[in-house]
Amino acid sequence: EVKRKQRGSYRFHENRMSQRIYENTLLAKDLEKAPHNDELFLVFQPQVALQRQTVIGCEALLRWRHPDRGVISPAVFIPLAEERGLIHQVGRWVLYESCRQARSWLDQGISFGGVGVNISSLQLLAQGFFEQVKDALELHQLPGSLLELEITETVLVQDIHQAELVMNQLRALGIRFSIDDFGTGYSSLLYLQRLPIGRLKLAQEFVRDTLLSSGSQGQNEAVVAAALQLGKNLNIPVIAEGIETFAQFDWLREKGCDEGQGYLFAKPMMASDFGTFVHDVESYGILPQPAESAST
Ligand code: C2E
Ligand code: MG
Ligand code: MG
Ligand code: MG
Repeated sequence: EVKRKQRGSYRFHENRMSQRIYENTLLAKDLEKAPHNDELFLVFQPQVALQRQTVIGCEALLRWRHPDRGVISPAVFIPLAEERGLIHQVGRWVLYESCRQARSWLDQGISFGGVGVNISSLQLLAQGFFEQVKDALELHQLPGSLLELEITETVLVQDIHQAELVMNQLRALGIRFSIDDFGTGYSSLLYLQRLPIGRLKLAQEFVRDTLLSSGSQGQNEAVVAAALQLGKNLNIPVIAEGIETFAQFDWLREKGCDEGQGYLFAKPMMASDFGTFVHDVESYGILPQPAESAST
């Protein structure tokens, strides 16, 4: 009795697993065609200076409009792309499209500050990455100083020598680097000093859980404060990701955090809306305008 049940449940799990692998294979097939089928697009999330209250740049975030499944999150298809070796084509599309968009903002006279592009460690460490970035900049006549590459700490663990080599080459083009999701990985503090790192992007996990209960000074607050202090000591600016509440904004600013990004200021938006956002910040500052009172 029991044995039969266990076998049944084992087979059930096995089926579920092969089902998932099968579905991922189908999805990967679709993803392979996505760049050519016009199914990929970028949204841009503004980054702001917390004290000066200006727009300092934006982050390009990839979206995939699947013909049957609707818009799929990069949290789903980026890991798949990395697994199936598709990240190079997908990442290439993101890079060229980000440079094209930045060029277009320049031509429209929009002071966007710079564009941040997420780079998988597989891309950075792949042969020909430097040439690819150089070509994307040249094609769109974009100064390297307007491009920031966001890498994660995993890249430093995987092949620090190759990473350092290509980072220095790219730095010579004026390109800046930031460490994404800082605090969740394993980067040695030594490398932070040795590598050309322009800023630390404090992982939103820490920021999100900061000040959840009013007045609390818990572990997250301690981690954030320590990261900010580290940035100060190494002379690397820190940008806090995932700022959602005014309390978090206030607390971070008080702790000396330079820059921020999060739903409090703006969600990722279409490129065409970014110019309006920059204009609004110039007129009203970085915080959303209070909604007009309904009672009057
Ligand atoms: P990330 O680079 O850490 O990007 C920040 C993520 O947090 C984005 O999610 C953004 O929409 C979200 N976010 C921003 N502010 C807030 C906030 O206040 N609250 C909350 N809850 N979330 C906020 P998204 O766009 O879904 O991207 C998820 C991840 O997918 C990114 O994390 C990045 O690791 C990866 N990704 C996105 N685009 C690309 C790409 O072009 N290439 C690569 N390799 N990875 C990408
Ligand atoms: Mg990022
Ligand atoms: Mg991040
Ligand atoms: Mg991330």
